[in-house]
Amino acid sequence: MESKRTEKATLVDGSTIEYVVKDNPPKGGMKYTYFTPDKKYVVQFFNDPKNANDINIHKRLEAIVGKYNPTLSEEKGGSRGNTQLAADYFSSRFCWPKSLIKSPEFGIVCPAYPSNYFFSENSTDIEGYKDILKGKDKKSTYFTSPKLSKYLKSDELGDFRSMLSLSINLARSIRRMHQAGLAHSDLSCNNVLIDPQKGTCVVIDIDSLVVPGLYPPEVIGTSGYIAPEVLETMELPIDDPNRKLPSSYTDLHSMAVLIYEYLLKRHPLKGPKVYSTESAEKDDFLALGPKATFIENPVDKSNRPKDLTYTIKDLGPELEKLFIRAFVDGLHSPNERPTAMEWEKGLVKTWDMLSQCSNSKCTHKWFVLHDPQKPICPYCKTKIKAKEVVRLKLKSRVRGRNGQWIDAGEINCYDNMPIFKWHIYSNCFPDEKAERDLQASIHYYQGQWIFVNRGIAGMLSPSGNIVPIGQAVLLSDGSSFQASNDEKGYLIEASITRW
Ligand SMILES: [Zn+2]
Repeated sequence: MESKRTEKATLVDGSTIEYVVKDNPPKGGMKYTYFTPDKKYVVQFFNDPKNANDINIHKRLEAIVGKYNPTLSEEKGGSRGNTQLAADYFSSRFCWPKSLIKSPEFGIVCPAYPSNYFFSENSTDIEGYKDILKGKDKKSTYFTSPKLSKYLKSDELGDFRSMLSLSINLARSIRRMHQAGLAHSDLSCNNVLIDPQKGTCVVIDIDSLVVPGLYPPEVIGTSGYIAPEVLETMELPIDDPNRKLPSSYTDLHSMAVLIYEYLLKRHPLKGPKVYSTESAEKDDFLALGPKATFIENPVDKSNRPKDLTYTIKDLGPELEKLFIRAFVDGLHSPNERPTAMEWEKGLVKTWDMLSQCSNSKCTHKWFVLHDPQKPICPYCKTKIKAKEVVRLKLKSRVRGRNGQWIDAGEINCYDNMPIFKWHIYSNCFPDEKAERDLQASIHYYQGQWIFVNRGIAGMLSPSGNIVPIGQAVLLSDGSSFQASNDEKGYLIEASITRW
């Protein structure tokens, strides 16, 4: 029989927390874990007493739990400028340490992962695999590796839209960290759990963050996600000026690898190229380090697999550009990598270009319809059933230049489409602070497309008259109108492509 007993830990604020002590508790690289009796929290202690007594680790964790904590409002001692709304949002996006333990020894208390990030016996139909899978964390490899995903029920796998949704989640969480000056230092398929059914992800293992002004953690990263410059210099002494340590720049490489895997179900650097015949280790080192080559590099095609049926081009121009910057321009030049905010913006813009595949058996169900002349799903090659694509081009006013507008985004319309503030005003963005009340909606009504005002003050018709709430404008090819006469309001241009 396995023995179980309940113990009490005292937190730094003097309060206590109970935890269930088990034989052979789950062990990570740094710490081992017990659960509280209600399983809502985990209590973690260090494997190595040297770490438990390390003053640098104490200081770093104090800063992480306190003044850099995005899951706590500024009022309650959390991150500067953090509102309760933002704190609530990020509470479900991070497993952020909640408090520090002072006795029986130094440790941390974290929220347990939400239950939707664990597999259940219902996650697979395959007998014999049910027990293996049950209770395991939803690491992204289970979903992005074709070898593993074939064991899962199809509804576990989500679709292209839900993978795009969780990519937005990840970019937003990392943007928030980087905004505070923090770096994760070990983003990987193991430290970001995903739920493709819901389209959400949670970033875990927050205790190895790089905190401004404090001694960095001794983390290298996880194979396949380590930035090339870190891998290349990891043999140098830690204080050698040429040694590259994990930072926000290295996070930007790891995050781009994850997003590429989520959206394309393959690794961006693992292609057919052989870098060394000496040993597998050397080949791997060169392939992911000094000689790393993007499998979709448009110029150097030496690492390109022969059977690429869909590519970054199928993700639309925003994401194509970002992947080129991450894996061509920025692969060996960390400063060139797109920031997490640029990823968040590009992914959100791509969201507005989604189109549902007309093939009910399509594995991806959604695709990015970036070229209205080619309304064909890149995954199953089905042409969409609709006879037309209605696209709205958003243009924002050039400040100080009356009557001049620049492109700010595009939307593919569908029936009953909701329109939010970020589609109307150039200073609104769908982040954790965004108001999500309906501004307008798009409908296919009696053979025509209409844009119905649901709450915009100052919406104008194509001829410049106010469109009251409840009234609509007709979307015809080439028509344009001001979504709002506010200085920040977009000019909307409609185009209809028929075939
Ligand atoms: Zn399809």
